[in-house]
Amino acid sequence: MVVVGKPFLTVEQIQKKVKELADQISGDYEGKDLLAIGILKGAFIFFSDIVRLIRTPLTIDFLIASSYLKAESLGEVKLHYDIREDVIDKDVLLIEDIVDTGVTLNYIRERILMRGPKSLKICTFLDKSGRREVDVPLDYVGFSIPNEFVVGYGLDYDNKFRNLPYISVFRKTA
Ligand code: 5GP
Repeated sequence: MVVVGKPFLTVEQIQKKVKELADQISGDYEGKDLLAIGILKGAFIFFSDIVRLIRTPLTIDFLIASSYLKAESLGEVKLHYDIREDVIDKDVLLIEDIVDTGVTLNYIRERILMRGPKSLKICTFLDKSGRREVDVPLDYVGFSIPNEFVVGYGLDYDNKFRNLPYISVFRKTA
């Protein structure tokens, strides 16, 4: 049996924070050539919410990545789908759902940096900073959260619960 409790972050808290982040990004990217890259699958809802509130013109792309934890080492990242857009001379903003150890985002960040964007910033909705193992610079953070496994608003357990409109702490019982 699995248990998903009451909202940890409500729909209202989420909407308010997404608007705040979008306002900040709109100001910072005024007059720039913004390419917003969503990191799938987890960021699909956050990405679609935030890009609709960003008021500067932008282009979008996606990549799909996942990390696998291996014994006695940091996770290994697998890229399942890469971006199609050229990043040269673009102001790239990576949009992520949650940063945990930082391994996934660090891998993606370095891959994109190698291709020579004009700038590269990172926006994550959730940050579990207490779990960080690789230092990755975060420019926009929605909420810093404790070390709990959360689901909803795009985040899954076993590819389920992504469609919950709020974020909940997930607990598995026998
Ligand atoms: P990292 O490479 O930073 O350790 O892991 C990042 C990825 O792990 C996220 O993109 C997400 O897919 C997954 N992840 C980390 N913490 C959580 C969590 O609390 N809930 C869910 N659903 N996924 C998580």
